[in-house]
Amino acid sequence: MGLKDKIMGFFKKAGEKMEEAAIPAKNEKPAAEKAEESMDDTPIAQEVSPKAELPPELKALLPGPPPGGKIKFAHYWGAGCGGCDVSLLDINEKILTVNDMADVVFWPIAVDGKTKDVEAMEDGEITVTLFNGAVRNSENEHMLKLLRQKSTILVSYGACAMWGGMPGLANLHNTKEIMDYVYTKTPTMKAFQDTQSEPVFPQTTYQAPEGELHIPVLYDTVRAADDIVDVDYYVPGCPPMQTSIDVLLGALIGHVYHGSDLPPKGTLIGASEKTLCEECPRKKENRRIEKVVEPHEIDVDPDLCLMDQGIICIGPATRAGCGSPCTIAAQPCRGCYGPTGAVSEQGASMLTAVASLFPVLDNDPNIDEDEIMKIMSQIKDPLGYFYQFSLAKSLINRAVKEKGGK
Ligand code: SF4
Ligand code: SF4
Repeated sequence: MGLKDKIMGFFKKAGEKMEEAAIPAKNEKPAAEKAEESMDDTPIAQEVSPKAELPPELKALLPGPPPGGKIKFAHYWGAGCGGCDVSLLDINEKILTVNDMADVVFWPIAVDGKTKDVEAMEDGEITVTLFNGAVRNSENEHMLKLLRQKSTILVSYGACAMWGGMPGLANLHNTKEIMDYVYTKTPTMKAFQDTQSEPVFPQTTYQAPEGELHIPVLYDTVRAADDIVDVDYYVPGCPPMQTSIDVLLGALIGHVYHGSDLPPKGTLIGASEKTLCEECPRKKENRRIEKVVEPHEIDVDPDLCLMDQGIICIGPATRAGCGSPCTIAAQPCRGCYGPTGAVSEQGASMLTAVASLFPVLDNDPNIDEDEIMKIMSQIKDPLGYFYQFSLAKSLINRAVKEKGGK
């Protein structure tokens, strides 16, 4: 029986016992009395009390509060999908250690903390905050600044917080275009707008009988967390991998229970300085692409580099550290670990990598520029593909319209 099964069994049995003890069925003896009468039914008190009686694996997961008392932990969700919020649970039973080590003082998706509770805290009172999601409206910005002020350690957690992530692709448009599309062109909204004498858009303030209501102001430009505040650590990924969370948790446990030094400020937790291609087990032969394909369109060779098979893979322009689960599963890397430290432009770096697949331009009579253009035009949405996670943090981080909206 695995550790997880043991723990699940432990809590299931304890839960059943508690229910029995709390609600004896009509005309039935209380569970404690029944337990005494039953030779093979162990009383609950013997199972849940002293940790000395727990299996060793469970004792390791439940170290008790740190010598200096529990630390304070917060997790907040800016402009993101919620995947980062949920990813913390990927550490499975180690969440028990988090519970022993920390009081969760603010984590809107999981506990009922309010912004005013955070505002009432002392500066630096929260030991560590994980901030996920990008900054694309006034509320994201306010909460990021507030949590920075109230936290000793601020972690930029996930691709959206680190580089704007997928919300950053909104930088290809401005707020007016986005609002116009969402509120007048999408089928459901169009049906509603057709019933109105003039288009109705959300207002940032509204005078209700109970008082003035506010909703956040949507910004024209999506930004990363460290464009706005000082960040202590980064955890890349979309969402971060369990292995990275383990490294982060291990560093915190070492620091809080044993006084170990934390990693240097600015460390990318669980990431490597190499590119994914250096970590990926697929064999690279630098074959020339003749046709761009998606994985479902071909019988993918299990050992050969995906680019050599015509599948555009962002691995050459992406930082390693994830263990290449996507490429091992015959899916191309999408770039969620961001660019390596050696380059600031993931998309431009990827463009260079793709261009290097045509080194024969000068000496191969069978291929010319038109042919290359024809092949490359098969890449649907190259900007969105090459900058899927990092547009907001790139050198040219947004589309700029000429006067007149062109
Ligand atoms: S990094 Fe990925 S998982 Fe996390 S909020 Fe952004 S889109 Fe969601
Ligand atoms: S391009 Fe993709 S599939 Fe090929 S070696 Fe690099 S990471 Fe692996």
